[in-house]
Amino acid sequence: MKGSEYHTKEKVVSIPRPQTSDSSSIYGVITNIQVYSLHDGPGVRTMVFLKGCPLICDWCCNPECESPAPEVEFYKSKCVICGACLKACQRKAINPDLELKSGAKINKDLCDECGDCVKTCPVEALKFVGKVVSVDEVMEKVRKDKYFYLTSQGGLTISGGEPLYQFEFTHKLLKSAYEENIDTVIETCGYAPWRRYAQILPYLNLVLYDIKHMDPVKHKQMTGVSNRLILSNLKKLSKSGMPLVIRLPLIPEFNLDRDNIAKTAEFISNLENVIEVNLMPFHQLGKDKYCRLCREYSLKDLKALDSDAEGVAKIREIKSVLEAHGLRVTVGG
Ligand code: SF4
Ligand code: SF4
Repeated sequence: MKGSEYHTKEKVVSIPRPQTSDSSSIYGVITNIQVYSLHDGPGVRTMVFLKGCPLICDWCCNPECESPAPEVEFYKSKCVICGACLKACQRKAINPDLELKSGAKINKDLCDECGDCVKTCPVEALKFVGKVVSVDEVMEKVRKDKYFYLTSQGGLTISGGEPLYQFEFTHKLLKSAYEENIDTVIETCGYAPWRRYAQILPYLNLVLYDIKHMDPVKHKQMTGVSNRLILSNLKKLSKSGMPLVIRLPLIPEFNLDRDNIAKTAEFISNLENVIEVNLMPFHQLGKDKYCRLCREYSLKDLKALDSDAEGVAKIREIKSVLEAHGLRVTVGG
């Protein structure tokens, strides 16, 4: 296996690349291909979720997409406590107390994701999330639903993770779909060099673009990076003529204050080509994934924003502020 290296905040990881006789094939690491999706773009869509993201947002509901390489997950409900994984692990990363709660199964500081425990487990309680696929393999799946795209104005959406983190793969996949007249959308955090966006623009029909906070310091505290590049790229995209849907994750104790919402509304209203704004209220649907990955989830005790009347009122208030700036706003994507 050859590999290319990416530096995450935690460790250096290597994306495996299978040897292939077909030198024109480009490979990427994905977690999932979801068909018949009615979210994340118009019509019926095929969603491809890529691994790897330059941000680490505290509220992320796809933590399995943060690291670009495949990772071992533990499904406690399947485990028969046979101890085979404990013997297989040379790095002593498996917790010897096999009956411990699932989030403590693997010490990820010691684990190098070698997969020996996965091969040994008789009941698939240990599994890799993330697999290496070629653009051609993904296109084969995407093509199958061409009829549904035609009748619904749907198509392909690349999400993640951050699609531009595996730039070559995303570029080639978008180009292939576009050349087959398949509608193309990406969902992006905006944190990539502008030249990358410029290279994929000719093969894109719509961009779903996140704004998380208007203050660069607060943005860095919760995501690991400043918002400067993100807002600068968004202005350039807006001027390029690309249709945009702006997405605002609504995170309690982070970005719901009036000042931030007012600045966000002002900023978006000065952009061109914004079709609508999607409000994405904080939820807890990703909580179990942190446990399976044996990772801490710092927001595990925060309740979903729409779980009480106060939260629902807050969502309505934010919607009104944005609408008062002449923006079309929907709750959810
Ligand atoms: S993947 Fe991690 S836990 Fe499993 S055997 Fe390798 S080092 Fe040990
Ligand atoms: S090998 Fe699988 S079933 Fe056996 S203890 Fe490990 S995780 Fe559980």
